[in-house]
Amino acid sequence: MLATDTLNGANMAFEFADLPYDYTALEPHIDAQTMEIHYDRHHRAYYTNFTGAVDGTPMADQTLEQVCASITADSPPAVRNNGGGYYNHNIYWNSMCDGGSSPDAALSSAIDSAFGSMDELKKQLTQAGMTRFGSGFAWLIVQGGKLVITSTPNQDNPLMPVADQQGTPLLGLDVWEHAYYLKYQNKRPDYIEQWFNVVDWAKVSERLAAAS
Ligand code: MN
Repeated sequence: MLATDTLNGANMAFEFADLPYDYTALEPHIDAQTMEIHYDRHHRAYYTNFTGAVDGTPMADQTLEQVCASITADSPPAVRNNGGGYYNHNIYWNSMCDGGSSPDAALSSAIDSAFGSMDELKKQLTQAGMTRFGSGFAWLIVQGGKLVITSTPNQDNPLMPVADQQGTPLLGLDVWEHAYYLKYQNKRPDYIEQWFNVVDWAKVSERLAAAS
C-alpha cells in the first residue's frame, strides 16, 4: 500500500511507510548509502517534523494530499516544507524499482500524445531537473487529462496552489543534492541520466489510471 492511502477515517495517511525495496536495490544507479541516509534521516525528519507541526490542528484529520492542496503563501513554513517533503519523498520512493519497469499502453499513448516519444519526455524532464536552481523536484503531472512536465522549488509540489503548474503528480524526480551528491557530487545530469534506469513506469501507469 502507498503511504498516502487513507483508510476509513482513521488517518493512516501519516504513516512512515517502509521502503518498497532494500537500500541496495537501486545499485549501481542509486547507491545504498545515499538511499539509507535519504530515507532514514532526511525523509524521517520531514515526517517527524510534519506530524509535529499538524498535531492538535484540524490538518491532523486531513489527508496529506488535502494538506498540500491547502498550502498558500501564508501557510506555516513547517507545514509547507515538511508536509511537502513527506509527500514528495513518498512519490519518489514509489517511482523507482530494481531494474526499472515499462509503461502500460494507456501511459505510453498519453506520453506519445503529449511529448511525441518517451525519449522526448526524458529530455524535457531532464531539462526541468537541470534548470531547477538550487533544490527541488522535477515532475510529470496530469493536468486536465494531459501530461505536463514541471518543477517546484524546495519541497513544494504540484498539489500546492503556490506551484507554477498544478496537477496530480505521476512521477517525481528529487534533484536536491542529498539525493545524489555522495555518488555523483556536482554532476546532476549524470544522476538524472542514471535515475531513468530505475524508474518504475508501471507505478506511474497506476497513478495515471487512478487520476483518470
Ligand atoms: Mn530528498
